[in-house]
Amino acid sequence: MSDTKTTGGKVEKSEAEWRKELTPMQYAVLREKATERPFSGEYEHEHRPGTYTCAGCGQTLFESDAKFDSGCGWPSFTRPALESHVDEERDVTHGMVRTEVLCSKCNGHLGHVFEDGPGPTGLRYCINSAALKLQPK
Ligand SMILES: [Zn+2]
Repeated sequence: MSDTKTTGGKVEKSEAEWRKELTPMQYAVLREKATERPFSGEYEHEHRPGTYTCAGCGQTLFESDAKFDSGCGWPSFTRPALESHVDEERDVTHGMVRTEVLCSKCNGHLGHVFEDGPGPTGLRYCINSAALKLQPK
């Protein structure tokens, strides 16, 4: 971690460093915007209370009390733990218009947010398990 740069609170590392620190699945999701196969991630059916942090940089992303069973095959949340900890960007790849969700600290790809979630936000943050690390309470 010696040559990890932190610029304005951001974590910046070379792709080689990320490749060294992350598992191949974490690297594919966070750095290459891959999507894990539905119903395959370790946190889809996770019900333990705790805090989900970024698998890349450890920033707090979601709390377990915002997690719900959407049946979509990925861990789903109604809201981030802190708005400032996630960035949202318009994504027009794969012939769809979606909103991409990124970690605001390391710019890692987390998943997408859709407007078909339950109340009160009406949002569904559909997040790859590989991008998350649960810190059980
Ligand atoms: Zn991060």
